[in-house]
Amino acid sequence: MVKDSRHASGPASEERTSIRAIAAFSGGLDSTLAATLVHRTGIGVLLLHVKHLWSGGREAEERLRAAADRVGLPLRIVDASVDHLDVVRHPKHGYGAGVNPCVDCHIFMLKIAKRLMEEEGAHFVVTGEVLGQRPKSQHYKALLEVAEESGLGSRLVRPLSANLLPDTLPVERGWLRREDLLSIQGRGRDAQQALAERLGIRDYPQPAGGCLLTERVYATRVRDAFAHVGKDNVGAEEFELLGVGRHFRLSEDFKVIVGRDEGENAALTRLAGGRVRMEPVEVMGPTVLVEGLPSVDDLALVAALASRYCDHAGRDPIQWRVLRSGSETLLDAVPLDPADPRIAGWRLGG
Ligand code: SF4
Repeated sequence: MVKDSRHASGPASEERTSIRAIAAFSGGLDSTLAATLVHRTGIGVLLLHVKHLWSGGREAEERLRAAADRVGLPLRIVDASVDHLDVVRHPKHGYGAGVNPCVDCHIFMLKIAKRLMEEEGAHFVVTGEVLGQRPKSQHYKALLEVAEESGLGSRLVRPLSANLLPDTLPVERGWLRREDLLSIQGRGRDAQQALAERLGIRDYPQPAGGCLLTERVYATRVRDAFAHVGKDNVGAEEFELLGVGRHFRLSEDFKVIVGRDEGENAALTRLAGGRVRMEPVEVMGPTVLVEGLPSVDDLALVAALASRYCDHAGRDPIQWRVLRSGSETLLDAVPLDPADPRIAGWRLGG
């Protein structure tokens, strides 16, 4: 049962007004509930969002600010995009089902929260983690490891599951009471929804499955890039490129990226770097990038593949402009038959 502890009494409640916490904040329901529960005890709460390459763009940031406004808590956004890349490339605790290094990612973010806690003279850190909600990263042992390896130890409180976990410093010191904290576990959402109702929290987003790193198609492309160019050579732009267009590996020497719409064509042009870029000359069709060391014959095959995605009925040849190292050449190609079985075999991630 959840108690509203706004009117807590006794010496601990007086002390609470001088106690402050940093609350990791994703804008989702669980982190909102955790921060709100602690704030309702009289403890000062500063929300912290750690931004990285997969945490969304400007719209996501606006949603985050709106969510913080709704609960009336100050929000600090820390951009850790560059340092976070190494967590994705070299996770000590490995990956989940995709290339999502969730345990390392939590440790990384909580190290930043610890730093902010120390800078702000705050006393502990709060997260919305729920025991057993994610089988690989939020089981009992993983939660203890994250607390330990982040350096927070007993200064890390998960209010939604705290009564199922070892006692923390805020409980031992009486800043938080066990009855302020909960025993939620598992993947269900009923307890959180009931708590949201009780705390008057509305307009929260539906839970997301995880970031792009958890997605199968994206993970296949990332693994291919790691294997072919080396983990340390996959930087921010490469990770972004892996999320744009259709990707095909035609051989160990080169891969092909084909835009699916105007927005992706523009993104591919922006991210082309030193890759070969190809564009159809007289028909509407995709922008194409070729990465690696394609021969002239390889480019003819790429043009045939890409022609299959042009707005062009039939099998008449399509002319392509090929831009490579500052030079421009033209190439004609007959579109591949859409039923050609090689196409599915080349496709990275379906
Ligand atoms: S889902 Fe993505 S952002 Fe969330 S912890 Fe896992 S890797 Fe990090």
